[in-house]
Amino acid sequence: MATAKNVRHHVVIGSGVAGSQAAETLRECEPDARVTILTLSSLLFYNRYDLPKVFRGHRDWREFLAYPAEYYRERRIGMRRCSRVAGVDAKRRAILLDHKEEIRFDTLLVASGGRGYVPEELSEFRPLMHPFSSYTEAMVAANEVPDRGHVIMLGGDMIGLDLARTLLDTRHRVTLVAGPQTFWPHEVGADERPGLVAALEKMGIEVVEGADAGGIASIEKGARGLSSRRVLFKDGTELYGDVVMPFFGLVPSVEFMLGSGVDIERGLLVNPALRTTNEGIYAAGDVCQIWSDAERRYRFYYGWKNVRAMGDLAARNIAGGADPWVPAQDETLHVTADGNIQSPFWEYE
Ligand SMILES: Cc1cc2nc3c(=O)[nH]c(=O)nc-3n(C[C@H](O)[C@H](O)[C@H](O)COP(=O)(O)OP(=O)(O)OC[C@H]3O[C@@H](n4cnc5c(N)ncnc54)[C@H](O)[C@@H]3O)c2cc1C
Repeated sequence: MATAKNVRHHVVIGSGVAGSQAAETLRECEPDARVTILTLSSLLFYNRYDLPKVFRGHRDWREFLAYPAEYYRERRIGMRRCSRVAGVDAKRRAILLDHKEEIRFDTLLVASGGRGYVPEELSEFRPLMHPFSSYTEAMVAANEVPDRGHVIMLGGDMIGLDLARTLLDTRHRVTLVAGPQTFWPHEVGADERPGLVAALEKMGIEVVEGADAGGIASIEKGARGLSSRRVLFKDGTELYGDVVMPFFGLVPSVEFMLGSGVDIERGLLVNPALRTTNEGIYAAGDVCQIWSDAERRYRFYYGWKNVRAMGDLAARNIAGGADPWVPAQDETLHVTADGNIQSPFWEYE
């Protein structure tokens, strides 16, 4: 049994798929260590791919939790909710929370994920759009869309298209203003795009091509008695709907790591063992870019199975392993023989 003096303190920033898996694996690998999760979320871990269920009548937050509170207590995983990390001092091995509390660590795993990207030209219209990346945002959006209501989706990344499947299934109308981020994170060649767009139309999505974010002149509140949103395009055409939802892919949440001494490109840069440029700091999930020997570049690996595998690997390496990253899912987007879209991003069970 380790003495209090030599017990290591592993801190995980983020309670998403990567952070939760990492904490669980750390506990298995090091039964005596202290493991703490810091998260700005007020809810315990839930799978974000479950959020579209709000349109199927699931509204109670308890239905979304992956594990009950006892799960963390039994495993002696300290869970600090509503705790926003403001900064990290790698040299002093200290984390500063927004409310000025300082937390010391022996090893740190950053698993702070990403948040929805909104192109600069649309940022002034943010207050009129409904993002969909947390339980709270999902509830707000669901309350705004009436039965059989009309959702105008901008961008159309795979997260948005996943939601579109549920919306159509629950008899809503979906119009997609397509653009370069449609199908993100898949990289789609010009030759593949027409077939994929045809598959979206077969699903029941009304696709507006050729406008994208740069083609939008404004997003406005509808006048009394009309639909609540109007999207006006630069060519003078317009669309009316109940909500406008942005789905332009994710940007890594790394702000609090700026100045920490760890290298950042867009995400936190990690070697194949998921270690950053600081030996006590690792990163996993949507926040990190992993060095690929084959591609000679740092790159993101998205998808729920990849993210969970990263959390597991980072924890095992923190506990003394040295295994390299091997992707847990492939990245190809297909149209099946019967014209349906098939993506590993949508296979999460
Ligand atoms: C609606 C929706 C549907 C999706 N559907 C799919 C799907 O079908 N298939 C799929 O593969 N993926 C899907 N995804 C994406 C998938 O959810 C993400 O890839 C995954 O959640 C990333 O996990 P993560 O652990 O890296 O980060 P996240 O799940 O984003 O978790 C990040 C954590 O970090 C915390 N955090 C961030 N900043 C701070 C800070 N400064 N201080 C403290 N805590 C902080 C957050 O509170 C959160 O707990 C979907 C996402 C959404 C939103």
